[in-house]
Amino acid sequence: MTRRKSSYRSLVSLQRDNAVCRACVEAGYPLGSLPVFEGRPGQRALIYGQAPGVVEGEQRRPWRGRAGQTLRRWLEMDEETFYDTFYCASVTRCYPGRHLSGRGDRPPTPPEIELCRFWHEWEVRLLRPELIVPVGGLAARKLLGLTRVSEYVGRSYEVDGALAIPLPHPSGASGWLNDPANRSQLDGALRQLRAAVYRLR
Ligand code: SF4
Repeated sequence: MTRRKSSYRSLVSLQRDNAVCRACVEAGYPLGSLPVFEGRPGQRALIYGQAPGVVEGEQRRPWRGRAGQTLRRWLEMDEETFYDTFYCASVTRCYPGRHLSGRGDRPPTPPEIELCRFWHEWEVRLLRPELIVPVGGLAARKLLGLTRVSEYVGRSYEVDGALAIPLPHPSGASGWLNDPANRSQLDGALRQLRAAVYRLR
């Protein structure tokens, strides 16, 4: 049974409850994994993805699949530095399962997103990150209200007192990334992000 306190005083206590959350299943949504997130108190940067994929769901560790490898290559980080630098969470934290059409993963529904917002809001309140990196269209929309990838990649924003630098999703599913004309825009965003990470050290 999902347990949500009316308030949390520590990130570890929040994580303990989040790790066993079944709120979406209890609301009737099929999920393919238990919650996936990773981080510790004191981390100053937060990566905010869309939802875990099948690999992440199986391993219960964020960014383990090909998209994670691409993201680390973009950031010029090895695995150890990546997980040491970033608290990793997402808009919804359980693998949503395959799309009924059989093509790709099922996108999280608005009620699931709403149910999971609770964890993100408490996470930000307790972690108080200085840098937030929304990755992919859903994360940019939910965190910053942004909808056009060509307009937000390469720009920075302020949210909850943190610097936010959105990135396109590295999965390659987005046609935007495949257009060579957008490569310099992505390079600009990555330069900005690497500099922001450097300043945190
Ligand atoms: S997606 Fe979020 S709210 Fe839904 S069951 Fe998983 S952790 Fe809970």
